[in-house]
Amino acid sequence: LANMSHEIRTPVNGILGFARLLADSPLPAEPQEYTQIIRQSAENLLGIIEDILDFSRIEAGKLSLYQVDFDLARLLEEVTGMLAPLAFEKRLELVPLWYRDVPTLVHGDAQRVRQVLTNLLGNAVKFTLHGQITVRATLADETDQGPVIRFTVTDTGIGIDARQQQQIFQPFTQVDARATRQFGGTGLGLFISERLVRAMGGEIGVDSTPGKGSAFWFTVPLERSHAEIAE
Ligand code: ADP
Repeated sequence: LANMSHEIRTPVNGILGFARLLADSPLPAEPQEYTQIIRQSAENLLGIIEDILDFSRIEAGKLSLYQVDFDLARLLEEVTGMLAPLAFEKRLELVPLWYRDVPTLVHGDAQRVRQVLTNLLGNAVKFTLHGQITVRATLADETDQGPVIRFTVTDTGIGIDARQQQQIFQPFTQVDARATRQFGGTGLGLFISERLVRAMGGEIGVDSTPGKGSAFWFTVPLERSHAEIAE
């Protein structure tokens, strides 16, 4: 499975790409609506496929990191921007908070940081019915290599009790069947996030009160931007 990712992804990307083109072309209302459904379904399918592929890579011990220079502030902006329409639809307030001492130009696996943040923020939006979601980036530590950043995603959602907090980082674990039917999902997101964070040398955890909300956090040690060091 881990070696087949290209073959699985390509046809779905074909469906998605052409559904997007179709959606942008002048269509009567009904086919327009059908096209949106095809697009949304293909997007959901691709998300599930990506999760399964990541899961298989983890199982096969083939998880690899790809380090680049990147702009952390822009990454946070992009992730919140991507989930903003969904939050808006649910009338949730979505607030990114960037602390001033956090460096913006860093070196690390941007794609994986984005993936973990997207998962936590996506869950926060999914499991919150009203209120607000904040995403904080703070400087947790400063080592010789560079900054250790802590991201915290706080929601005012359904919350998770203490016993279940221990289980949700296991693969295919969801808190209750009724919620699963209501909210969907595979139960792989947090497992993958935990493995990714660990592979990057960080930690992940949650504080939560049922009925009040949750705060999922993770730390990630990054290096200073290589371009900056070279200057
Ligand atoms: P998925 O969201 O696909 O079900 P995850 O691994 O991301 O899978 O999450 C596992 C479970 O943890 C969820 O099904 C849900 O029961 C619980 N959970 C995750 N994030 C939150 C949150 N912010 N608030 C309440 N419950 C959550």
